[in-house]
Amino acid sequence: MEKVDFQVGQRIIMKKPHPCGNQVWEIQRVGMDFRLKCEGCGRSIMIARKTVEKGFQGFFEEKNESFS
Ligand SMILES: [Zn+2]
Repeated sequence: MEKVDFQVGQRIIMKKPHPCGNQVWEIQRVGMDFRLKCEGCGRSIMIARKTVEKGFQGFFEEKNESFS
């Protein structure tokens, strides 16, 4: 599996949606744990990096609003 280079400010799509139904998250902090902000309801969560890598589906492209 390729290692993904995550950076603060990127928006990613996760396999498992937030309870609010949203699948797009903004990266607010990277490290052993990531802080992700839900684009749907605006809440932030702390999540282990490996969990992010496991559920990562792609970067969110604002232009065409589709999976990259
Ligand atoms: Zn949400």
